[in-house]
Amino acid sequence: MRIAVDIDGVLADQIGSALQRIEKEYGQRYHRSEVTRAHWTFDGRDIWTEISRLLKDPEYVMAIPVIEGSQAAVQKLAGRDVHVATARRPETEKSTKQWLSRHFPDLKEYHHARTGAKHAVLSDLLIDDFDLNIVGFVESSPHRRGVLFQQPWSINDTGIENYSDQVYFCKDWPSVLKVIDEIEAI
Ligand SMILES: [Mg+2]
Repeated sequence: MRIAVDIDGVLADQIGSALQRIEKEYGQRYHRSEVTRAHWTFDGRDIWTEISRLLKDPEYVMAIPVIEGSQAAVQKLAGRDVHVATARRPETEKSTKQWLSRHFPDLKEYHHARTGAKHAVLSDLLIDDFDLNIVGFVESSPHRRGVLFQQPWSINDTGIENYSDQVYFCKDWPSVLKVIDEIEAI
């Protein structure tokens, strides 16, 4: 089974880092639990636009912390066919690969896929925190499975609940590992 893993919100705490920068730059403090949509806005600013800007700075990229439990989980998946599928823009690829080799040395295969186009990545299972990506992926084939890595911003009215036979909902990495075992046992 080929497994594709998203970076932001699954391996990297992108929103946590972005909110710290937003506090520094705009003097406004928000908690990640307040970010209830992918295109969450504050003062008319879309957090996605802010993140795209921040990701151009390699120092910012290298300082993003990992999501709890992700390193141990990826280590446990060693020997399996696991690769990265990210929508981060190509200009961030160099620093993103440096970040990955520092925190996830086992993840060597890297694919860029636009948001909503992750079905283009050759894989049987996608682990992603954005419902739009999971829905697009499982819709592309009845044999594909998706794990929605649940974050406060994961649900964006894509009707993901209608794909319950193909989608698993996981709040943390230990439950993702359980799901992978379950799928492999089928
Ligand atoms: Mg993501």
